[in-house]
Amino acid sequence: MNQSAVPDVSASADALRRDLSEGSSPVAREDGSPTLEVVPLGGLGEFGMNMMAVSWGDTTILIDAGVMFPDPDQLGVDLIIPDLTYVEARRDKVKALVLTHGHEDHIGAVPHVMPLFDGPVYGTPFTLALVEPKLQEHGIDPGNRLQAVAPRQRVTVGPFTIEFLRVTHSMPDCVALAITTPVGVMIHTGDFKIDQTPLDGQHFDLQRFAELGGQGVMALFADSTNIDRRGFTGPEIEVIDAFEELFTSTEGKLVVATFSSSIYRMQVLVDLAAQFDRKVAFVGRSMERNAEIAQRLGYLRVPSGLQIRDSDVHNYAAQDVLCLVTGSQGEPQAALPRISIDDHRHVRIGPDDTVVLSARAIPGNEKAIARTMSHIARRGAETVTSDMKHVHVSGHGSAEELKLVLSLVRPRYFVPIHGEYRQLAQHARVARRVMSGSDRNVHVLLAQDGDTIHFDGQSARIGEKAPAGRVLIDVTRAGEVGDEVLRDRRHIAADGIVVAVVAINRQTGTLVGEPELVARGFVVGENESTSLFDEAGEAIARCVSDASLEERADQGLMSEKLRIELRRLFKRRSGRRPLVVPVLMEI
Ligand SMILES: [Zn+2]
Ligand SMILES: [Zn+2]
Repeated sequence: MNQSAVPDVSASADALRRDLSEGSSPVAREDGSPTLEVVPLGGLGEFGMNMMAVSWGDTTILIDAGVMFPDPDQLGVDLIIPDLTYVEARRDKVKALVLTHGHEDHIGAVPHVMPLFDGPVYGTPFTLALVEPKLQEHGIDPGNRLQAVAPRQRVTVGPFTIEFLRVTHSMPDCVALAITTPVGVMIHTGDFKIDQTPLDGQHFDLQRFAELGGQGVMALFADSTNIDRRGFTGPEIEVIDAFEELFTSTEGKLVVATFSSSIYRMQVLVDLAAQFDRKVAFVGRSMERNAEIAQRLGYLRVPSGLQIRDSDVHNYAAQDVLCLVTGSQGEPQAALPRISIDDHRHVRIGPDDTVVLSARAIPGNEKAIARTMSHIARRGAETVTSDMKHVHVSGHGSAEELKLVLSLVRPRYFVPIHGEYRQLAQHARVARRVMSGSDRNVHVLLAQDGDTIHFDGQSARIGEKAPAGRVLIDVTRAGEVGDEVLRDRRHIAADGIVVAVVAINRQTGTLVGEPELVARGFVVGENESTSLFDEAGEAIARCVSDASLEERADQGLMSEKLRIELRRLFKRRSGRRPLVVPVLMEI
């Protein structure tokens, strides 16, 4: 991401909040008369786990329920979801969950939220199709709660009327929400960019945004992810030129790693594969699954005879194959990192092959990605990243697109959402600049997770703090890659935690001394625990000596290996599933 334009936010956050929130906005009534209460529960002040609660009297609707992926140093944590205390406390009032689109940071926590209330989950068909397998994994039967909606359709929930507005993004079937409330209309953009040549011909509904703006919008909540970027983001089809070059120049296999939800990217690559006579294999569980769902629902078109299974890749000459793989972030369990150390069941890479990272590096993943690239280089293959060729385009609108939406909607109140605090603050500055001099002065409310924003029709204010924060989720992997069963935090609390401190010699890659195991809340019989921990020490030693030198040198891969090994052992011997946290030290 180009972050050179990020201004230095040197003023303290509070001062900035005062500066941006006060003065322009009269203080709302505090006489107990009803107000519209909007509480962001995630995504304001961080990247990911987007969620918001909108309440009037006895009715609460939830917008999105996303996850955030942990930093690699948060060992043993697979997913982070918003603290749901606020939702639990209002479970009788929560009447619906409304989804903007199918990215994990918007739907990943749906299985954790659905059991907390009765009532429908609204989303477009593709969004709901991506939710369904998650519910299955959690053994949740949605009955008729998943309600498909179409753009421009309206649904009524208590005092709210929700209209869905088509927006463009990096995946199909994304919507913004225009919610009519007793005190005015609020628009929530979801994630968007303004792609004027969408691959599926489904255009951003600029017309409806403008109409609503003309009729008067009380509050706009808008995506801030790319506020730091100048200009316009660019359409999805922009990557075609660079890929055409790569299809022409690659003599061996072409392996492209991208997000498994990037259906447009898949379509571009499938079309090029057909044009350049390469078979296409979808590799990695979520890639296979999403490609299947998208084809079934008509969002991805693959000419018949083009697709092959990953197990058939070796039956074709390298120059006749395109693999679309997971693992663009260097995640140890995903396809590309496994392929890069010859640890994948079906796909190998070698000289003449080209690996393309068609995704941005999510901050925090740079080291894991760099290690994967080194493994690939050792096998003689070439890696192409978005820094070298234009093989990735963001799904989020840049500054000019965000300004355009602001000037179309012309809200009375503006609340930047989806971003770290610096991005929200920058979006707030931009909004004031866009609206200054216009007949309608915009009041910016710079809120963070847990802030209760009150709208009473005359004014708005940020009031009391609601409980908000992060809940760390550990995922059990039952052997198979990505064969995941989510467990809830009560389970973790019940089964405790085991930390394994393992020292490895940096030169030889061998174990130094005995591994040290520390347990908290993980209880087995007294004599058993000694023998179990001895056994665990032996398992660690075996795991290290069985690993290749290359694996041993890769901390990410090694700790994942140890974690899986120890979890399996504890499960087998004690029937319990403690949170296992390997700490690898190179000495
Ligand atoms: Zn998104
Ligand atoms: Zn998002």
